[in-house]
Amino acid sequence: MTCAIVRILHCNIAMKIHEYQAKALLARYGVPVPRGEVVLSVKEAAAAASRIGGSVVVKAQIHAGGRGKGGGVKVAKNAEEAAEIAQKILGMTLVTHQTGPEGRVVHRVLIEETLPIERELYLGIVLDRARGKNVFMASADGGVEIEEVAAKTPERILKEPIEPGLGLTPFQARKLAFGIGIPGASANLAAQAMMALARANEALDASLAEINPFILTKDGKVYALDAKMNLDDNAMFRHKDLQELRDLNEEDPLEVEASRFGLTYIKLDGNVACLVNGAGLAMATMDIVKFAGGSPANFLDAGGGANVEQIRNAFRILLSDKSVKAVLINVFCGILRGDIVAQGVVEATSAMTQSIPIVVRMEGTNAEQGRKILSESGLKIIVADGMRDAAEKVVAAAAAQ
Ligand code: GDP
Ligand code: MN
Repeated sequence: MTCAIVRILHCNIAMKIHEYQAKALLARYGVPVPRGEVVLSVKEAAAAASRIGGSVVVKAQIHAGGRGKGGGVKVAKNAEEAAEIAQKILGMTLVTHQTGPEGRVVHRVLIEETLPIERELYLGIVLDRARGKNVFMASADGGVEIEEVAAKTPERILKEPIEPGLGLTPFQARKLAFGIGIPGASANLAAQAMMALARANEALDASLAEINPFILTKDGKVYALDAKMNLDDNAMFRHKDLQELRDLNEEDPLEVEASRFGLTYIKLDGNVACLVNGAGLAMATMDIVKFAGGSPANFLDAGGGANVEQIRNAFRILLSDKSVKAVLINVFCGILRGDIVAQGVVEATSAMTQSIPIVVRMEGTNAEQGRKILSESGLKIIVADGMRDAAEKVVAAAAAQ
């Protein structure tokens, strides 16, 4: 369970960017990418396609993969056809295995030159937590879902650890290039592209960098035909210029709002809302809710030093999730005092018409005062004795709703 949550957190504390943005960044570090332009309208699509000339590929730009299978990547013979395709893709709700059934509305398309593909390969860099280092992965089985390759034929994914300070070395890159079957004449080009990807990953503080497919063309060149990069939110302070790559259209509106108040909120798919201070306690709370047979509706870290306003906003954001059936307030009060938490909760709920059961487990500074404020508030408060009891009570309350 904790592992699943770590994964959820990992992908959510990263800033996602679009394919065309990732390609522009990678190109700066020397990764070869196809010529292309991003456009917002059909008219611009036609103009871009005629500037590029010949046949082009029209690609929906959303923060999710699997666009090809979902109908978001189409080849056009000429500018006229590119306009027709752009007309269909712009504004469409694209559903892929990564978007969930609700899909994503496409607001931008990338128009790119087509290339004579000989082979579709895979390159990627992720953090290997066990080794405490980034690991560079390469596979001859690109283009398809790499998760499937990892599950069914893991031996087809070659790995090289990246030594911090050294980067991916020429020796490692050549070994990978030959390992995935790049012919001798193209091996140096491929190795250079791999090292460029590793440099970009390091310099941009990426938490994930992936090229799928990385292609070998019929004339022996290599290109990043697709690119995905997640940038570490916690490193954004040293990349002020990258901040503008953020596309709020692609982010969960509640998560965007929470970030405005300095709250770390991640929506999950359960029905027990959790108001917690501290990331560790938030993780433990989600675990114990699961352990009690329930399912958390969110991860929320209000922070160790939250004020009344932050608690009020946190609570309001929690409750605006329609699937929430009960709330668990699990706080250990230190700098954040129990009475402050209680006051924020009461203020946030004062305008509410229907009441939702709230289970409180509060310890530490002014906890007693906090519990008193809550129980005198007229809210449906259930006071719990310890974490296990709190989890059991909140799961039961949610089930009874
Ligand atoms: P994803 O499905 O979201 O990962 O999008 P990709 O950018 O990886 O595109 C999916 C597939 O479309 C690729 O694996 C290619 O087979 C195909 N594709 C993308 N660009 C081109 C291109 O320029 N020419 C051709 N012939 N196929 C392309
Ligand atoms: Mn892809």
